[in-house]
Amino acid sequence: MSLRKICCAGESNVKGSYFMKSVWLQENKWEDVERYLQKKKTIIVPVGSVEQHAKHLPLGTDSFVANKVAEDLGQQTDTLVAPPNWVGWAPHHMAFPGTITLRPETLISLMYDICKSLIYHGFEKIIIINGHREANLPPLKIAITKLRNETGAFLAIADPFYIAKKIGGEIKKSEPGGAGHADEMETSHMLHLMPELLEMDKAVRNIHLKHPFLQHDPFVEGDTIFVPSDVAGYREGSKNIGVVGDPTVSTAENGKTYHRELMKNLIEFVRYCEEEVEVTIRKREIPL
Ligand SMILES: [Zn+2]
Repeated sequence: MSLRKICCAGESNVKGSYFMKSVWLQENKWEDVERYLQKKKTIIVPVGSVEQHAKHLPLGTDSFVANKVAEDLGQQTDTLVAPPNWVGWAPHHMAFPGTITLRPETLISLMYDICKSLIYHGFEKIIIINGHREANLPPLKIAITKLRNETGAFLAIADPFYIAKKIGGEIKKSEPGGAGHADEMETSHMLHLMPELLEMDKAVRNIHLKHPFLQHDPFVEGDTIFVPSDVAGYREGSKNIGVVGDPTVSTAENGKTYHRELMKNLIEFVRYCEEEVEVTIRKREIPL
């Protein structure tokens, strides 16, 4: 993990002087955090998943993406990043070995306790970077909605897929049904971020067209109805490989473009949070 000094007096023209040795909270001392909180109330919290990602991507893909995006965002906006949360909610991916899933209640409690601890210390604006797309979203939404109402803190979930959906739609090469899991954009992004962990000769195309209501590709417009997957159905639907979509057309170049746009949007959002969002904290409590 790269260390980078942020806002050190005399070394940066970014206003403020937080004397942070690293954007990662856990690499600092408590006095560094105390100093940071005198100037800044925002923190980034990455959360991902360790789950099968077909034969060409590593199990930790969603967490690697969340951690890299969070670190990059922290460095570019001089914002602290909370420790990585590696495991999410992924019951259908238990169809393949290596996947670890929390119960949704556990993920709600985990995020609730982490954010509540941060709010207790004086953080008022919390931006969660979710690398696991829609599967983590229901528990994360419940956790931050509870915290928002209880504490008054500002909490947000930025999902790398949804916050860069526009550019994804513009640069994608795959046909409708090409986005799903271990798919084109996810693979392109990882080819840009961590190419050493991929085995592209094992990437397989699986365009799985179901009834239009059940279309899972978020780039396809249309009316949809939600039906959850189970382990057996997921194994079969993903060709016994774990892929839904088309990673064979992925390129590092597109991953770079996608990452750049994603960072641009996230940086704009951090600035918005810092400059325009006003927060009144009503309650600070230790999670017990
Ligand atoms: Zn993924």
